[in-house]
Order: sequence, then structure tokens, then C-alpha cells
Amino acid sequence: MKDLSKALLVPPGSRIKLASIDPSDTCGYDKEAAAGHLEKNLDRLSVLQYLLYAEAARSVLVVLQGIDAGGKDGAIRDVMTGLNPQGVKVTSFKVPEGAEKRHDYLWRIHRALPEFGQLGIFNRSHYEDVLVVRVHNLVPKDVWSQRYDQINAFERMLAENGTRVVKFLLYIDKEEQARRFNQRIEDKTKNWKFSTADVKEREYWDDYIAAYQDMLRRCSTHHAPWYVIPANKKWFRNLALSQILRAELENMNLKFPKPTADLSGIHFE
Ligand code: ADP
Repeated sequence: MKDLSKALLVPPGSRIKLASIDPSDTCGYDKEAAAGHLEKNLDRLSVLQYLLYAEAARSVLVVLQGIDAGGKDGAIRDVMTGLNPQGVKVTSFKVPEGAEKRHDYLWRIHRALPEFGQLGIFNRSHYEDVLVVRVHNLVPKDVWSQRYDQINAFERMLAENGTRVVKFLLYIDKEEQARRFNQRIEDKTKNWKFSTADVKEREYWDDYIAAYQDMLRRCSTHHAPWYVIPANKKWFRNLALSQILRAELENMNLKFPKPTADLSGIHFE
């Protein structure tokens, strides 16, 4: 099996040109073989999550970003399907409102973090504050441009205190987005997903690409790496996410905690 953790990692400090990545790439996998690998990954993820929960001393935060219709919701559904809901916390970040607007941009992020023992999933994240905020000039440049360093410091603090942060950019091309928008229009069961705001955002495609590239360059670190997932093909997206997440959890060397009592002489009839 090709090591997708290596192939799709954004090496810290590197300058990735998204145009040089093929969003339809499958890194040599075919759909049939991928289905078998996915199943194995999901089985193993379930065991690893059990260990994370039992250990209850560290947590994992999965950050998902991507252009509209990039497949964030589908990825959560397809890759997290075998996990125990008790140990999973999914948070979707929308336009800040209420108390969120009356605090710094990391306040709502910190509040939403998984507890130790949990796997947290962010559907959008603090990176919106250097993406949509930058593309639409929602704050001045001198404010958003400081956020890359702030985010790195925040994620480093998390890493040093027991939270492994793993970040995925789901990367589709404009043609695939058009196909998915059209499906949302044609398929009555998907009409609810269609939003005219998404169509407006499509006009800013190139600005988003520039913002993604800076985000990857500035914020892929050893303590919180970014991975770019070619996501035109959903089956490959699922395979890549499951495989990388599995490898990340394996690297944590999770262990059952020691029993709280000497169990050797205890037996119930
Ligand atoms: P989604 O597209 O994630 O399924 P929505 O259609 O409700 O859900 O979109 C959420 C919107 O909130 C997106 O357009 C996103 O850019 C926006 N958003 C998220 N965080 C922020 C932020 N910090 N500042 C401004 N807009 C944000």
C-alpha cells in the first residue's frame, strides 16, 4: 500500500502550488482495491478510538477545510461511520454570531475542542479566519496576516498539552464543483444543499486558492500538519482520510491505562 501520509503531507515550510496537484489523482489506487483497504482502515480506527477513549489522557482534533461542495460532510459521514459516537465530537463553524462576535476568533475554537479521550472533528475551523475573512476583507490585512503565527502558537500549545491536531484540505477542481452544484439542483433529495451564497463564492475561486496556498505554507507544522487530499473522487478521498488518520493514531502509541486495583485475586461467582 502506498504511504499516503507521506505522499499527501505538506512538508513544513514548503510552498505548495495547488495547480501542480491533480484533484483526480488516486496515487495509483483503483476503486475496487480501495474499498477493501477502506474497510480495514475503518475497523482499525474503531479499535484505536477505543484505546484513545480508554486512555482518556490525550485527544485528537481533525480539521476539515475545503471549497464549497468539496465533500466535508460526506467525508465525516463515510470515514467516521464506524466510531463510537460517545467518543466523537463534531463541530461545524458558521459565520460568527452572538457571543462569538464579542470575543477573539479563537475563543469559539477553544470551547469546541474535544475532551481528552475524544476525537474532535471541525467542519470548517479557525482557518476560516485566514480564508473567507481574507478573501472578503472582513478585517484589515494587518489583522488577518498576524493570524498565521497566532494559529501556529495556539496549535503548538494544544500539541504540547495532549491534543494531536491533524488538518485536511479537501481539494476539488472547478469542474467537479460545477458537477456537484448541478446534482444539487437536479436531485430533489439534494436541493436543500444548494445555496446561492455558494455560487457567489465560486466567483472568488482564485482568491481562495491563493489563501489556501498561504495557509498551507505558513501553517503546516510538525506539531499540526496539513494534508492536501485530492477529492474529486470520493472513494479516494475516503481512503486517504482513513489511512492518514489511522497512521496518526497509530503514531500516538495509545495504551490502556493501568487497572486501578490489583485484579489478580478477584473473581466473581
Ligand atoms: P457549510 O458550507 O459549511 O456546509 P454553511 O453553508 O452554513 O455551511 O456555510 C457556513 C459559512 O460560514 C461559510 O460560508 C463559511 O465561510 C462561513 N464562516 C465560517 N467561519 C467564518 C468566520 N470566522 N468568518 C466569516 N465567515 C465564516
